[in-house]
Amino acid sequence: MARFFSSSEADLGVLKGKTIAVIGYGNQGRAQALNLRRSGHPVTIGNQQDDSWRRAIEDGFQPLAMDEAARRADIVMLLLPDEVAPELYRRLIEPNLTAGKTLVFASGYNITYEFIVPPPRVDVILVAPRMIGQGVFDLPARGEGFPVLVGVAQDASGGAGATTLDLAHGIGGFYPHGAVLESSFEEETLVDLFSEHTWAGAVLFLLERAFELLTEAGVSPEVALLELYASGELGEIGRLMASTGFWNQLKLHSHTSQFGQLTHGPQFIGPEAEALMRKAIAEIRNGEFAKRWTAEQAAGSPKFQQLLAKVFESPIARAEADLYVKMGRA
Ligand code: NDP
Repeated sequence: MARFFSSSEADLGVLKGKTIAVIGYGNQGRAQALNLRRSGHPVTIGNQQDDSWRRAIEDGFQPLAMDEAARRADIVMLLLPDEVAPELYRRLIEPNLTAGKTLVFASGYNITYEFIVPPPRVDVILVAPRMIGQGVFDLPARGEGFPVLVGVAQDASGGAGATTLDLAHGIGGFYPHGAVLESSFEEETLVDLFSEHTWAGAVLFLLERAFELLTEAGVSPEVALLELYASGELGEIGRLMASTGFWNQLKLHSHTSQFGQLTHGPQFIGPEAEALMRKAIAEIRNGEFAKRWTAEQAAGSPKFQQLLAKVFESPIARAEADLYVKMGRA
């Protein structure tokens, strides 16, 4: 069972007098920086001088170069895309990580696969919202929390655990309906990549194939798209799973729908699907996927670009573009 922390366990004095540098003012960086500032913590931003830099100024920060922000801070939150973080970390952040500082990640990836190996003199902690940046910002603004996985990889100071809880508190994880759970860099990496390598991708390609089969069967592309996802019903079902329950949401469908789903759904999950899920876990654990992705990036991402081009030019994408124009969405 995962350990749930309560807000009373977050020693609210740990961050007192400490400067927090948020490195990367993007999806997570902006939301977390604004929430921390609203919680009363002094925050500086480190970013390259571009649109995000200007956005930080509009939000009332005085952004610095990444190395300068890291040099001035006690707590350095590395909120850069995982694939660009190692190079920027080595060049700009690590030289400024003097003893006693804390390095914070919102994802386990780079520590799990040792793409970043911080010096032993610093604390290394995980404060990973299970929420997109927009939600991290919007939910606390209306008094609601979100789930946050926390973990410690290095505890040089002896106080790393307390820092995780105080930061989780500062970004809004302890508000009602939120949860701050004990996890680890390895566990966060496993669940994150597992979703991406199994159901998340499978749903996309299942729906695409369903679109092709329905249109082959004579259904108009517009009706097929609206049925499959374009109506927003799929998103609504996902929202109901989180609010009322995974199976409870079924009760809001007709009996015919419930019977159909319960009798047909399991047929899609045979030994082959299970073997693929087990393979995904094995390849995440033994680092095979990370090795493949690193090699792909080192080669200039040719396969990735090819795959993206293919899906954006697919029949479903073209039909969707037409539909969204008709519906005034584009
Ligand atoms: P973003 O893609 O929003 O990028 C964050 C920042 O990185 C931006 O400010 C961007 O600056 C900067 N950046 C990107 N590339 C470069 C580069 N080559 N050189 C210098 N700066 C660069 O990242 P996210 O916020 O999505 O992700 C940050 C961390 O949070 C990751 O570890 C991710 O796994 C984790 N996370 C993300 C979630 C999400 O929903 N997005 C959810 C939970 C965790 P600029 O715009 O100026 O280029």
